[in-house]
Amino acid sequence: MNNVYLKKGRDKSARQYHPWIFSGAIGKVEGNPSPGEIVRVLDNDKRFVAYGYFNSHSQIQVRLLEWNEASTVNDEWWYDKVSQAVRRRGTLAVDDSTNAYRLVFGEADFLPGLIVDKYENFIVLQSLTAGIEAAKPVIVQALNSLLNPSGIYERSDVDVRDLEGLPQQKGVLVGNEPEDEICIRENNLKFTVDVKNGQKTGYYLDQRENRRVTARYADGLQVLDCFSYAGTFAIYALKHGAKSAMLVDSSASSLARVKENTMLNRIESSRVEYVKGDAFQVLRQFSQSKQKFDMVILDPPKFASTKSQTERALAGYKDINMLAMSLLTEGGILATYSCSGAVNLASFKVALFWASLDARKQVQYIHTLSQGIDHPRLISFPESEYLKGVICRVY
Ligand code: SAH
Repeated sequence: MNNVYLKKGRDKSARQYHPWIFSGAIGKVEGNPSPGEIVRVLDNDKRFVAYGYFNSHSQIQVRLLEWNEASTVNDEWWYDKVSQAVRRRGTLAVDDSTNAYRLVFGEADFLPGLIVDKYENFIVLQSLTAGIEAAKPVIVQALNSLLNPSGIYERSDVDVRDLEGLPQQKGVLVGNEPEDEICIRENNLKFTVDVKNGQKTGYYLDQRENRRVTARYADGLQVLDCFSYAGTFAIYALKHGAKSAMLVDSSASSLARVKENTMLNRIESSRVEYVKGDAFQVLRQFSQSKQKFDMVILDPPKFASTKSQTERALAGYKDINMLAMSLLTEGGILATYSCSGAVNLASFKVALFWASLDARKQVQYIHTLSQGIDHPRLISFPESEYLKGVICRVY
């Protein structure tokens, strides 16, 4: 096994269980480890820090896996880690009200670079790094024997693979090819998911609990669900007694899915309206025409991928929330989310504050929310906490 030596004083975060070693922290690499190969990381005084996998093509040259020197990162190790992650989902699978959830959430499940989602009886795997590529055969074998799924489908068609020097790929890894639509259950509601071509691995599992909390306030309200994707927030709201829902998304295929999902949940079509368009523009038009809603849901895509984009992202959050606040009836509910990892909850609240000043509204917040329990966070790895939400009343 090759050794990787850290520069003097650059071992602190690794010793504190942050799993990423950036190229700038590395003093010397012994040998010529291939992408994904397991290496031993040592400090400048040659003391053991951890084992990890290496990739010279990536800015994150080592992702750490194991801090116990006596352990060996071999097939058994990978099998064990996958098995532990699957077992941790036991609390989600206690009844059959939900049959879709994340089984492995990368670094936060001690498996950097690996995402695994379960949709009914199918597994979808996303391999984001060379290290996971190297371990993929044993990971797939573990998932197959632990869960006995109809099939395991790969959705490694994501841009971040470029940063690792890996080509994008997708397709069947084991078993059957999934149908074009898998019907999942989430909190006893039904949704169709296209795991082969849908966004992410087909669906936004991270908002499961937030949909339920948001819907609690929906009884009797006229709801505007912006960035609706498959319409899940609106459908939860309608099932919890919302009078009507208008859904806005820029993707026609997402809105087509919403129609299917409303039918699947037996919601009268007269209660639902769809607008295909840019949510910023649509909200601006509504604001100009003084249209009002009792509840607005904002769940936009990521505005910032890196720290350098944070300022722009905050300006975007301020704008869209200001528009949403201006559309609300007195005491109306705003459920607003940010999935930009580079924007933390405190900054997000500052953007909401600016928005409230511009909208000349007072905002009382009643929930601060995060990602679902199948997306755990590591205290040593703040990057794992990416989703945040605030539910507020606006006066
Ligand atoms: N609320 C959804 C997830 C939203 S993901 C859920 O709970 O499942 C973000 C969505 O925003 C995607 O469906 C994407 O098509 C849409 N989108 C991206 N940019 C947009 C824009 N400018 N205006 C409207 N929709 C947009």
